[in-house]
Amino acid sequence: MSTTIAAIATGPAAGPIGIIRVSGPQTLAIADRIFTPQGGGALSERPNRLLTYGALHARDGKVIDHCLCCVMHAPNSYTGEDMAEIQCHGSPAILSETLAALFANGAQQAGPGEFTQRAFLAGKMDLSGAEAVHDLVTATTAQAAENAAAQMDGAVGSRIREIRQCLVDLVAEFLAVVDYPDEEIDSNLFDHACEILHNATRALYDLAETYERGRILREGIPCAILGRPNAGKSSLLNALAGVDRAIVTSVPGTTRDVIEETIRIGAVVLHLFDTAGLRDTQDPVEKIGIDRAMKQAQASALILAVFDSSDDISDDDLMVIARTHGKRTIAVLNKSDLPSALDVATIRRHFEHVIAVSAKTGEGLQELYDLIPQVVGMDGMSYDGSIITNARQAAALVRAAERCEAAFVAAQLGMTPDAVVMDAEGAIAALGEITGQAVRDDIVATIFDKFCVGK
Ligand code: GDP
Repeated sequence: MSTTIAAIATGPAAGPIGIIRVSGPQTLAIADRIFTPQGGGALSERPNRLLTYGALHARDGKVIDHCLCCVMHAPNSYTGEDMAEIQCHGSPAILSETLAALFANGAQQAGPGEFTQRAFLAGKMDLSGAEAVHDLVTATTAQAAENAAAQMDGAVGSRIREIRQCLVDLVAEFLAVVDYPDEEIDSNLFDHACEILHNATRALYDLAETYERGRILREGIPCAILGRPNAGKSSLLNALAGVDRAIVTSVPGTTRDVIEETIRIGAVVLHLFDTAGLRDTQDPVEKIGIDRAMKQAQASALILAVFDSSDDISDDDLMVIARTHGKRTIAVLNKSDLPSALDVATIRRHFEHVIAVSAKTGEGLQELYDLIPQVVGMDGMSYDGSIITNARQAAALVRAAERCEAAFVAAQLGMTPDAVVMDAEGAIAALGEITGQAVRDDIVATIFDKFCVGK
């Protein structure tokens, strides 16, 4: 028989409300012992998900809060088991006392992600849906949340199951032929297989390719701000972030280390790194800063190369141009509020994306905000759950696509039915890893270990 688990689901800091979740066969009995509904009756007899006001008791029976509580009767709950949710006042003392009362009555501390793991094991959601729960909890943009919510609702799982079913049916057709080797194989069978496998291969590669954008949606983009000293890098970071975060000064070479700020532009979270100004210097400390700037630029998915448009191109600017070569870069011509002295044609020759801004007045910043999602391929997307945000799922998709493609080639060449079946089964197995229909227990355990306690 399964244990009954309990955990605080809200953050560790004091807040107006804190939530404790309980799940398992003893939930209703335990909830009735620690919660007395106002007006009498037992909490366990209340309708599903109906919040009930009442008194919450500590281990010794003393009332420690007046709050709301609800029960969810199996199988109509998140985990599929009997569940209770206590919404008490969010003092860490009340929360830990309540948890202690639950433990004293037979509940055990839930492990990371154990509620969701139970939901997965009870078939309430497939593995891709369960992984989306983690994405939802850690979503940093509304769009990331929208995509994850759709995936939690089965957007990835249903698409994968659809493709998998086509392959399962195909394998069944081929196995029937393998079982009767003496009978002549209908050539339509191979034509039909080619069509199914071709479509499945394309669909799987298409899905796998969404991961590049999915990763951006989930993790954001590291973006280095490069430029010679005094070009206005710190001012740009401050203007983009909307606060005076980096130290701005007119003495060149102030930002000797890398300063980070995270901002949100629509669906894109940008991890901005203000770096030491690039210039030829003998100062050993400054050299270290420049070295770090270059390492940061190398690790960044996007570079904002800042030029002072009130000045002509210098050797230091040429160094910036050389160092950004081959990297996805937007040339930001800063100080557009001052008369221009920059050879813009030279800049345009080196950069596909060039934009004039004034970090001082804010001119051009909106255009820069609009340009960034475009440059990183994140504009005009729909967040209906079709974007894969999970590395494990993306890897399994690529494996499935490759095996599907191999099965397609085998079918096209009219190889033996066994050859087609073997690769198609490989693809089916890889797809089963995504939905959890065929996945190793240790992989499942690793997935839920990343979750927080209480989810
Ligand atoms: P960094 O060394 O590249 O980080 O440059 P800073 O951000 O420290 O700026 C250098 C100097 O240029 C400071 O005096 C800023 O006030 C000035 N500055 C930065 N951006 C602008 C701008 O858009 N317009 C004008 N007029 N001055 C700016």
